[in-house]
Amino acid sequence: MKKKILVTESSMPPLDDYIEMLQQLWDSHWLTNMGTLHSELENKLKEYLKVEGISLMVNGHMSLEMALSALKLPNGGEVITTPFTFISTTHAIVRSGLKPIFCDIKMSDFTIDEEKIEALITENTVAILPVHVYGNICAVERIEEIADKYNIKVIYDAAHAFGVTYKGKGIGTFGNASIFSFHATKVFHTIEGGAVTFNNPELYQTLYNLKNFGIRSEEVVAEVGANAKLNEFCAAMGLCNLRYVEDEIAKRKRVTERYRELLSEVKGIRILKPKPEVTSNYAYFPVLIDETAYGRLRDEVYDILKENGIYSRKYFYPLTSDQACFRNKYQTVPLNHARYVSDRILVLPLYADLSLEDVAEIANLMKEIGNVR
Ligand SMILES: *Cc1c(COP(=O)(O)O)cnc(C)c1O
Repeated sequence: MKKKILVTESSMPPLDDYIEMLQQLWDSHWLTNMGTLHSELENKLKEYLKVEGISLMVNGHMSLEMALSALKLPNGGEVITTPFTFISTTHAIVRSGLKPIFCDIKMSDFTIDEEKIEALITENTVAILPVHVYGNICAVERIEEIADKYNIKVIYDAAHAFGVTYKGKGIGTFGNASIFSFHATKVFHTIEGGAVTFNNPELYQTLYNLKNFGIRSEEVVAEVGANAKLNEFCAAMGLCNLRYVEDEIAKRKRVTERYRELLSEVKGIRILKPKPEVTSNYAYFPVLIDETAYGRLRDEVYDILKENGIYSRKYFYPLTSDQACFRNKYQTVPLNHARYVSDRILVLPLYADLSLEDVAEIANLMKEIGNVR
């Protein structure tokens, strides 16, 4: 049987590194509840992500829910967001008792169209929740301007943007809070895990209480909290992975550059351009397939790749606003760009250890099957 190339593959640290770290847990018997590995990872990530404050969480989704809760947004408030994202972003808004208001995206980088945000602001708007989709950063300066003008909060879903910097600043320093996902499929992972980053130091305690049942001391529960703590085994995995993440990103860069070389001249395949003043993490390799110029629909390409053992992803299709649980509930404006992109986007396999031969095989197949006339 032909080998399979999956869309992603989790990076693994050397097993000995992890075992060595586990020895500490066997010695201490302290397995969760903000142990030493948790603090060590928090400190190291704060530095790596170049942020002022960070609180580790059990996963990216709970990071979103905890961040929304920490900012104390009034119940029923409207949150302007993008439908071109992983379903978690929209779920977090709705599960927090807030109302998602979907804004269209830009064709240039697939992030929220900042020039369409103001038209969606009403007296009930409480926040903007944009997504640095594929690690492409949103128009953070313009979004801040709008948020200041209307006195509303900004929470970034930076799940794809681990380690990304803009003008030398950590991407997690923008807005009132940002969230990261450390899920096994992300550039940096703790198996499951996540974090909220912020500038306001008061948020540290608020988030600590929220992720730990609101417990202040042995006998005092001061607020209503959840359980969203990152355990020591996950923190250990994070500490091990963090040692190699620069290397992983460098390897991803090589894969990305090879894809670019091989696919940039193919008619009907659009690749996003890197942005100035941004250091990328090469998290994903999305291509936009224009069926007229390429001669095939995205779904056909997906199927042909699959028949050849290559597993790409229609990421993100459908739009979250079109999913059964949200359809016809919250959408107020047409989402033409988002819909256009969602129908034509394909994320190609990309991970640190994907061989350049495999990249060539994928790219050559894409060349062969396109423009057939
Ligand atoms: C992965 C992801 C999340 C959720 O993170 P988990 O760690 O899987 O809970 C949220 N938003 C986006 C955009 C993601 O890609």
